[in-house]
Amino acid sequence: AHLPDHIRAKVQDHPCYSEEAHHHFARMHVAVAPACNIQCNYCNRKYDCSNESRPGVVSELMTPDQAVKKTLAVAAAIPQMSVLGIAGPGDPLANPERTFETFRQLSEQAPDIKLCVSTNGLSLPDCVDELAKHNIDHVTITINCVDPEIGAQIYPWIFWNNRRIRGVEGAKILIEQQQKGLEMLTARGILVKVNSVMIPGVNDEHLKEVSKIVKAKGAFLHNVMPLIAEAEHGTYYGIMGQREPTALELEALQDACAGDMSMMRHCRQCRADAVGMLGEDRGAEFTLDKIDAMEI
Ligand code: SF4
Ligand code: SF4
Repeated sequence: AHLPDHIRAKVQDHPCYSEEAHHHFARMHVAVAPACNIQCNYCNRKYDCSNESRPGVVSELMTPDQAVKKTLAVAAAIPQMSVLGIAGPGDPLANPERTFETFRQLSEQAPDIKLCVSTNGLSLPDCVDELAKHNIDHVTITINCVDPEIGAQIYPWIFWNNRRIRGVEGAKILIEQQQKGLEMLTARGILVKVNSVMIPGVNDEHLKEVSKIVKAKGAFLHNVMPLIAEAEHGTYYGIMGQREPTALELEALQDACAGDMSMMRHCRQCRADAVGMLGEDRGAEFTLDKIDAMEI
């Protein structure tokens, strides 16, 4: 926890960024964003976006109205509720109407709750003004590479200007959008965390370079997460048996990328509808049928 004071002031009551706060404050995600505009090789669309969430779980999709109702219900039941995030199950910024309608209502009805969002970055430059308008506390961008050749091994295609663009060409556009979005956000003083998925033999060595670049552009944290290759999660890049990193490999890369920002090890890759203190999930207490039955 060696953060500059102005950043520390912003994250000290944020359970995801402060070792201290995660014992005292709760967070929740609402799953309002079904669509995605890219394909990651580690994704299986049946499940939540693996950018922020553990793959292999299915969150209950909600409308913005339902998400707002749920958030207010949770805030009433869990007084430590301080952060509301939108992380999926697809890409929140590929569903801008649903995502921003949720933020708009919440910033009016629950102004004390901090808002955050995670994204693959493809639509980010187009959304920065809107994000600033809703007083978004911070944005998480998943950046797995800065080299389109490596990107082509991670992203088989992107959907861009109404067409599918494959391979290196698609990866190049995605990388440019991610970097531009990162610069635009930090220029406006919005906190940016970068997540990377460590894929052995694909981007593991390369992530050290990614780390240098995103920190130079002002990301306040670079969080390396392991690829989770569950059997039922399908193939990676059409190849069965892409392995996960070992715990030692992950730790070595996290050490190399952490620099003086070694505070994010407790990220739990929470599911897109997680509720409660970090490491706990009280989502089952706040399912749609239960929320609908509540008087709020
Ligand atoms: Fe899947 Fe998320 Fe990648 Fe979209 S950004 S393909 S939802 S892992
Ligand atoms: Fe926090 Fe990580 Fe969970 Fe998001 S996925 S709520 S950053 S611990």
